Amino acid sequence: MRSSDSNPAPGPSGALGPAGAARTAGAAPAELADRWRPGPPPVLLAARCRACGRLSFPPWPQCPSCWQQTDTVPLPRQGTLYTFTAIHVGQSGGEPPRVLGYADFGGVRVLGPLTGAPPWIGAPVTVAEATSGPAGSPSRRYAFQVDSP
Ligand SMILES: [Zn+2]
Repeated sequence: MRSSDSNPAPGPSGALGPAGAARTAGAAPAELADRWRPGPPPVLLAARCRACGRLSFPPWPQCPSCWQQTDTVPLPRQGTLYTFTAIHVGQSGGEPPRVLGYADFGGVRVLGPLTGAPPWIGAPVTVAEATSGPAGSPSRRYAFQVDSP
């Protein structure tokens, strides 16, 4: 199965889930909190449809294909880097570039920041934990550790 089949529109809009999903009050924050589990070891969480078996990320309570109920399941911790980009913020001499990549984990393509070795397409990656935000109140999030060749 090609991983793009299970996630035909990766990108920021995909994080919003299917139109009309999870409109009940209070549902959205719970969804955001359940995208991963810090561990150790840290692991991404996806939804597996009880009816058609489709895996989707983030783990919405209803399948984006057939609208049946889903179960939250962990994805494999090892993935393959599909593509990546470096985002340069501000003027020269400012912050180091932010490197983001899409990686495939068990048939699901997920966007995340990259750490570790310099990335290349097809690189093996492992789900890791990173911190971001201001020094006084950093937030924990997942990242993809690029394994050395
Ligand atoms: Zn389904």
